[in-house]
Amino acid sequence: MPGITTLFWDIGGVVLTNGWDRHSRRAAATAFNLDWEEFQDRHDLAFPAFDAGHTSLDEYLDRTLFYRHRPFTREEFKAFMLAESKEFPESRAVLRSVAHCGKYFVGAINNEPLELNQHRIETFKLREDFQVFFSSCYVHARKPEELIFRVALAVTQRPAAQCVFIDDRPMNLESPRRLGMQVIHFQNAEQLRSELKTHGIEV
Ligand SMILES: [Mg+2]
Repeated sequence: MPGITTLFWDIGGVVLTNGWDRHSRRAAATAFNLDWEEFQDRHDLAFPAFDAGHTSLDEYLDRTLFYRHRPFTREEFKAFMLAESKEFPESRAVLRSVAHCGKYFVGAINNEPLELNQHRIETFKLREDFQVFFSSCYVHARKPEELIFRVALAVTQRPAAQCVFIDDRPMNLESPRRLGMQVIHFQNAEQLRSELKTHGIEV
């Protein structure tokens, strides 16, 4: 096995909760008394462009909610959205020890809309652990497609075989595997620690 020099991590579902997933949207629908079907249909149409950095949070909210009058404000809804992001301390500790052992280049490859990504990077001080963020909102490409992984390899100038990619969704592991990266399907911090060990990464 070639020596691993580089680790690329998903963020949502691994070190933090997802930024704005179905579970959070369900909770928002209850809290703000939204028609779930209508909100969900509009979300499905509006989210890909938001996630890929082509539209802003305000445009996403205009498309999904504020195309008509609401009995709540944009600020109230945004505050709810941002508050959905929480840290998973155990897997964050694994990330932290890998990032600070001085042996590896550590970057993120994550799907996240711009405003949520910035909020998460700031709030959880993710710059302390990640040297670079290949986020869908910056790269304008999303997992599971290959492009975002090809950009990460090209920009960092890493051979795929020296890279491990970690993600909680099996489908997101298919493109990096095809490109020759080692992959880990994240399930919990303990399992991650032991799988890293099989790649020669002691944490
Ligand atoms: Mg994820």
